[in-house]
Amino acid sequence: MKKDPLFRKVNTTAHGIHHRFGGDFHDQRNSQLLRESEATRLPMRGKVRRGLDYTPLFRFLLSKVGANWNEVHAEAVSRLDRSDPIFWLVAIRPSDEKEYVRTGEATYFSGLRVDEQGKLQIVNSSLGPSSLAPLCGCCTHTFNGVPFTQAFDPALQPGKSAPRVI
Ligand SMILES: [Zn+2]
Repeated sequence: MKKDPLFRKVNTTAHGIHHRFGGDFHDQRNSQLLRESEATRLPMRGKVRRGLDYTPLFRFLLSKVGANWNEVHAEAVSRLDRSDPIFWLVAIRPSDEKEYVRTGEATYFSGLRVDEQGKLQIVNSSLGPSSLAPLCGCCTHTFNGVPFTQAFDPALQPGKSAPRVI
């Protein structure tokens, strides 16, 4: 039986217009505002771009914590268009391990690793939706799909890339 792909097509105009992935929103405010005003002037048809969303892959990987990595990897590859998004979350070398990974403008997942027994594990399982502070007040920030519990605090040092780990 063929299983569903672990990615989906998205209309990128619906996401990520005002903060770009990996960028610092506050340093880019002027260009972002310009882009938004252009978007409202132009007809939708001309602005639609297609992207791929790997959220189903990230949920799949989280559901496989404790499972044999080689089997998880083989199944993931068979259900993807390319394999590199697997390694956005999963660190094969200890030096690549991350406690959390930002996969979208306000979307975070646990960093994963492969243990000595060849099983998939969470790098820091004490990290959860209450661990990080949101970077802005306008986006719903999620950790492993669960909304952050901390409210955005504009008094915090604004926009300095990574959220605070409490
Ligand atoms: Zn926002």
